[in-house]
Amino acid sequence: MDRLYCVVPCYNEEEVIHETAQRLLQKLESLMAAGQIAADSRILFVNDGSKDKTWPLIEALHQTNPIFSGVNLSRNRGHQNALLAGLMTVRERCDVCISMDADLQDDINAVDAMLAEYKAGCDIVYGVRIERTTDTAFKRVTAHGFYTFMKAMGVNIVYNHADYRLMSRRALDALAEYREVHLFLRGMIPLVGFRTAVVPYARRERFAGVSKYPLKRMLALALDGITSFSVRPIRLIAVLGALIFLISLVMVIVFLFKNASGDTVPGWTTLACSIWALGGVQIMCLGLIGEYIGKIYQETKQRPRYIIESVLDEREGLQDG
Ligand code: UDP
Ligand code: MG
Repeated sequence: MDRLYCVVPCYNEEEVIHETAQRLLQKLESLMAAGQIAADSRILFVNDGSKDKTWPLIEALHQTNPIFSGVNLSRNRGHQNALLAGLMTVRERCDVCISMDADLQDDINAVDAMLAEYKAGCDIVYGVRIERTTDTAFKRVTAHGFYTFMKAMGVNIVYNHADYRLMSRRALDALAEYREVHLFLRGMIPLVGFRTAVVPYARRERFAGVSKYPLKRMLALALDGITSFSVRPIRLIAVLGALIFLISLVMVIVFLFKNASGDTVPGWTTLACSIWALGGVQIMCLGLIGEYIGKIYQETKQRPRYIIESVLDEREGLQDG
């Protein structure tokens, strides 16, 4: 029987944590009763340096029922780091884990469908929102802009998928190979590969409390996502440089013609030619340097070059899993 861990990052969630705990408990108990998950499955709350009573509440939950476990981070590290801390904590303890927000916006009934996909052989199952009717128009527009812009910038993410997802143990092990510090899990997890599936669900309103993702944080997340995953912005400089260099060649020819036809002030041709040609060369060189910086940046991440899914060879030590 597969042991499930639910991973829930919490930052100043004292208003919702009790309700979330009860609903998750119910869900897990019904799954256990149905023989879907092991009886020692757990719910792990990650306290991301909350300034309110979140951690004492988690401790109290743990006292009442050991199914509730907790990890307390030393200070606020942000949603992505808190989530990773939780995932890496459960990695050795679970067969499968599901991450979700503490605010009950993600429909926990989608867990059944996720587990069904897992049993059918998927290692990663993405929860995808089908509608955003409960979000404010502003949130909808900014979120849509976010996904479109990320795609344009060359970052491969699943549309309308936040961090509500199922991961198998081996998907977690693969994720652990990514040692980068600037996290954007929604971009990293598709890099892992394996068989994946998508489970649609309706997103609700926050149960209580306020969003911890104001526009400023969303912009920071988008910027992090792009600069952690794509060298496309650097490429754009190179393309711009090449374009300007081409234009400068045309301009130089035009200026030389003007000079030959005596249509200029003395000294102007030299000046105009140097400005255009040098400008073009400079931006092109910047782009070239950028290409190398892009390589350095990719090398420093030390991402795994491949992840083996399975091996067909009976010799010892070669079998997977
Ligand atoms: N969160 C966190 N650390 C932070 C900010 C948020 O662990 O610094 C958690 C938060 O408690 C919640 C999840 O991340 O469980 C998503 O945050 P929120 O619901 O505020 O974002 P939204 O749904 O509005 O995008
Ligand atoms: Mg939320």
